[in-house]
Amino acid sequence: MTAPLVIAVDGPAAAGKGTLARRLAAHLGLPYLDTGLLYRATGRRVLDAGADPADPVAAERAARALTPGDFTRGDLRNRAADAAASKVAAIPAVRAALLDFQRGFGAAHGAVLDGRDIGTVVFPEAQVKLFVTASAEERARRRHAELLAKGAAPALEEVAAEMAARDARDAARDVAPLVPARDAVLLDTTGLDADTAFAAAVRIVESTRRK
Ligand code: C5P
Repeated sequence: MTAPLVIAVDGPAAAGKGTLARRLAAHLGLPYLDTGLLYRATGRRVLDAGADPADPVAAERAARALTPGDFTRGDLRNRAADAAASKVAAIPAVRAALLDFQRGFGAAHGAVLDGRDIGTVVFPEAQVKLFVTASAEERARRRHAELLAKGAAPALEEVAAEMAARDARDAARDVAPLVPARDAVLLDTTGLDADTAFAAAVRIVESTRRK
């Protein structure tokens, strides 16, 4: 039996991987999982409990208590959620608590999953691995525009600084740090619009699957 097709899409914040992964999934008829939501929802639960997202006990308890309703809340994509997510994500017990769900999701029918460690830890055997990146300036501009579209954004410099802190935390943590898998194909979306980036990703998927 051939293994179901799993496509790992990793990369730093606001590189365009979410849009790309969602479109790839629709194009290929595969389920899609935004794994960042798991960490965002965990961080939110910790904040709701009045605890510190860096507290391992509170964070693991929150990760193990997640329910489907946690993923549909409207406050998962603001700046407080950004910071809380990357703090809980540095805790090994939180990552361990969320691992089986991610693996089960992909193993059931195949999937496109986006995150930081999909190609390195969650599905090291994924048939296709994309590492989507863009310059720090471009990513800060995109995140700033996203926040503005929602109504409230601090100065661009502040968004850039928060994003740099989050990326540094994601890259420096001991467990499942943000690094491209050795066999990942790099896709730099700096200067590419969403359609061009998607076309490039489709080409990478097709050529990788043929190998
Ligand atoms: O992808 P997104 O920006 O929504 O992820 C939010 C945070 O969750 C990241 O900054 C990172 O700390 C964490 N994360 C992770 N591993 C994943 C997905 C997200 O550590 N697979």
